[in-house]
Amino acid sequence: MVNLIERFRGCLVGLALGDALGAPVEGMGREEIEQRYGRVRELFGGGWLGLGPGEWTDDTAMMLCIARSIVGKGRFDPEDIVLKFLGWFQAGALGIGRTTWVALEALRNGASWQDAGQIAHQRVGGLSAGNGSIMRCAPIALLDAKNRERLIKDSIASSLITHWDPRACWGAAALNLAISQLLYEDRGVLLDKIVGKIEQPEVRQAVAKVEVMRMEDVVPSGFVLDTLQAALWCFLNTSSFEDALVSAVNLGGDTDTIGAVCGALSGAWYGLEKIPSRWQQPLASRGEIIELATKIYELALFRTIR
Ligand SMILES: [Mg+2]
Repeated sequence: MVNLIERFRGCLVGLALGDALGAPVEGMGREEIEQRYGRVRELFGGGWLGLGPGEWTDDTAMMLCIARSIVGKGRFDPEDIVLKFLGWFQAGALGIGRTTWVALEALRNGASWQDAGQIAHQRVGGLSAGNGSIMRCAPIALLDAKNRERLIKDSIASSLITHWDPRACWGAAALNLAISQLLYEDRGVLLDKIVGKIEQPEVRQAVAKVEVMRMEDVVPSGFVLDTLQAALWCFLNTSSFEDALVSAVNLGGDTDTIGAVCGALSGAWYGLEKIPSRWQQPLASRGEIIELATKIYELALFRTIR
């Protein structure tokens, strides 16, 4: 039985590792990765952002904004998360996605967090169903794991800041339901347990379908439901943290985000100790990520016993 605190730590470290492992091959097709690297199994540098081995992109940077806000405030506070997002935006926001950029620009110009995502949705032509909110929302699953209603409400609110589309909002809720299930329950009935709790029909159908998907059916795009399916599929069809992440980043496409989402799921199940040390050692900000996960664990525990 994996220690609960190891699962909290594994979830956030796993997210950052999936991001770092996938970043150098982001945007390449499955065949291109195979031709150039064989199969990606190690952290290495490069990619369109020119990162060093173990460095990560916007997925982890925005997850850290949410985790730092939760720890600083002792609760989920979207207004404070916006301040953290804007601080990151001001500092250059390496690898930022288009919808997120438009939303943060609106926030910088005074839009409220409740409106920013919808403003961005309209400005990008109704295309805000990207994976930009599921890549960062895992800290909320840790905080709210014992309270399903609050988990769904907070996950949706965290998406609304930048990604207004109901599929992005419910995608974040679905992922966090899955993470909370893995922290406290068994992985064997994962999909059955979460499907009935997803109120948005397209998200519910997409998650239910993972059960019958084959690898050829997995589409590694930046569309929220494709990413959610890809990450769940890679977790459910492997039996170690390492194999889950290797299968995720070698799909090609939006590799860093599929890796990040799969890493959060896999880390929540296997725990920090099962994450290879050769991957953990070079991971940027590993110490801070573990410390934040530990503090959210304490907050979550306090909420449960209070
Ligand atoms: Mg990224």
